[in-house]
Amino acid sequence: MNEDTKIKCPYCGAWVDETEEVCPQCFAPLRPAKPAKQQGKLLAPTAIASMVLGILSINFSSLIIPGFILSAIGKRKANEGYDAIAANPDTYTGEGMLNAGRITSKVGLILSIVMIPLWIFYIVIYAIALSEGFY
Ligand SMILES: [Zn+2]
Repeated sequence: MNEDTKIKCPYCGAWVDETEEVCPQCFAPLRPAKPAKQQGKLLAPTAIASMVLGILSINFSSLIIPGFILSAIGKRKANEGYDAIAANPDTYTGEGMLNAGRITSKVGLILSIVMIPLWIFYIVIYAIALSEGFY
């Protein structure tokens, strides 16, 4: 019996051939289970930022210009995240969050555009009210 090819079971202390996956005496696993590749991936660096900026662009869309700015940055961060995943597909993940960032940024942009005629309408009404002496 060659001791070099044997390892000691950490649970029952039996000497087990090192090629064994499980201790034949107590059936304890002798080596840690290999983690799935997906679990080792990191969230793309801009994933959270793109989603937060997209949501903020919706929140600030009623002010038009802040909505445009936040939407543009959110879209850029989402694209940077997709680029990071494309460049390092084994390292980065987070497509779902980047997609959410891209969609919320687009919604923020649309709402900001919709607010323009509404603001013009308010300003015209206010100007008429002023000229008619309501204020
Ligand atoms: Zn054992």
